[in-house]
Amino acid sequence: MITRAIKRSRQGVNLVRGLRFRLAGAFLLFFLLLLAGLGIVVRQLLVNIVTNQTYALLDEEWAASKGYLRIENQRPLWMADPVDPEEALIVSRIQVGGPYLIADTDGNILQANSPINQTLGLDTEKIKQLIAKAPQSPQPPAREVLIDNQGTSFLLHYGMFPDLRHRYYLLLIGRSLGDGMKTVNQFTWRYAAVVPLMLLLCAGLGWVVAGRALVPVTEVAQTAQRITGSNLSVQIPLRGSGDELDRLIQSFNRMIQRLNRSFEQTRQFSTDVSHELRTPLTAIRGQLEVALFTAETTEHFRDAMVNALQDVEHLTSIVKALLMLSQAESGQVVLQMTTLNFGDMVRDMVDQYQIPAEEAQIHLEIDCAEDVTIRGDKVQIGRLISNLLSNAIKYTPAGGSVRVGVGPRGDMVAFWVEDTGIGIPAEKLPHIFDRFYRVRRSESNPVQGLGLGLSFVSWIVQEHGGKIDVDSTEGKGTRFTITLPLQPRDVAPPPSVAADHARL
Ligand code: ADP
Repeated sequence: MITRAIKRSRQGVNLVRGLRFRLAGAFLLFFLLLLAGLGIVVRQLLVNIVTNQTYALLDEEWAASKGYLRIENQRPLWMADPVDPEEALIVSRIQVGGPYLIADTDGNILQANSPINQTLGLDTEKIKQLIAKAPQSPQPPAREVLIDNQGTSFLLHYGMFPDLRHRYYLLLIGRSLGDGMKTVNQFTWRYAAVVPLMLLLCAGLGWVVAGRALVPVTEVAQTAQRITGSNLSVQIPLRGSGDELDRLIQSFNRMIQRLNRSFEQTRQFSTDVSHELRTPLTAIRGQLEVALFTAETTEHFRDAMVNALQDVEHLTSIVKALLMLSQAESGQVVLQMTTLNFGDMVRDMVDQYQIPAEEAQIHLEIDCAEDVTIRGDKVQIGRLISNLLSNAIKYTPAGGSVRVGVGPRGDMVAFWVEDTGIGIPAEKLPHIFDRFYRVRRSESNPVQGLGLGLSFVSWIVQEHGGKIDVDSTEGKGTRFTITLPLQPRDVAPPPSVAADHARL
């Protein structure tokens, strides 16, 4: 029971936090604001219309009163033509259609629609106030809004009206806004009653639309859940709409491909490492068995030990390379930057590789400019030169040649290693700097290697702010060109560099 309650509450939390809920909520909020705004604007428009219409009516009646009203001996007389029903109607509307009064300047009422006037509090005091504010000619009238004891608003026109002896009297006429406002209020209530219904509809619509829009997202999530380390070939089919979701699916598929490649490389690497480690281990074991069971003389023992030691060295170099790579990739290798005579370093290294090149019947030659200095880490730069040279010799068949060169190129130094070897197929070129990547796998390729050398080279070049280019034609040869920033001549080397030179 308790578990079920927790589950239900969790689902509730998920529902509220869910994208569908939030989208539908946003949709609902948008419509709530829209409908509320619309209601307020329409109501205000209606109020304006009602007010303007009432003012227009009052204007008309005020203009009529100017023509029909005479005041003689303190007696107001309405001169409408009794046979003209329109004139009679206007005059009666003025007198009984709303607030109406004529008063002398002392506030004495001569004629009035008293019941309405009373509800508006139009007593002598108020009348005197109006007289004080009223314009001294009937046109244009002053305007005022009064509210009666029921809360109904009345629009008033008033002004001073002269009799034949030029004595002035206050004339006030008015109209209730009540009827018009009743219509406006009716509209408001009806609108307010319809709004929740419309909102309910909007919420339902938003829920459905958001649900449909999110179907592909749910599909992506379900597919993603099916993906495991051993099932990385799964691809989510594109919907073909070219929208954001299709782009999301594309990115997702590309990410899975990359992960797949990386998993593949790691798997391949494990196989390669075990293979590479097994070979020297088996050899060591063989040498030790020979020493233990069959060696009879000291000489035999010695030979077995020397061979075992060589294999141990090979093993050590593999483990060292792996360790180095992991340190380099995790940023643990701190470069010791000094000024290096790059030309000398390349010349020394080429000298060291002359013997292995001769053994492999490969002609190794160098074309190196004088005094080429760079700023770099001596160990890493040495590793870079050595990796490229050893690869060139490794992948060049007997009778081939390897040419090494160093020369300035603008404010950079170029270092190239060019061979007439087996070359690299164009489609494999983009991958040769990937970790553990080997163009020909070790089963079919007798050349030993872990596929780590060029990963190192690319890391070293990048750490030194350089660039690496490869040109290769399968069956014809390969040329690696590295460009590194040149050490400016006029920059005095720091003391540590001078010490370094002294040691060299
Ligand atoms: P490896 O230990 O296999 O030599 P690298 O990272 O040094 O690893 O090189 C990666 C791959 O690039 C090699 O397996 C090889 O196929 C190819 N390669 C590198 N240098 C050359 C070259 N000079 N000629 C032909 N192929 C090369």
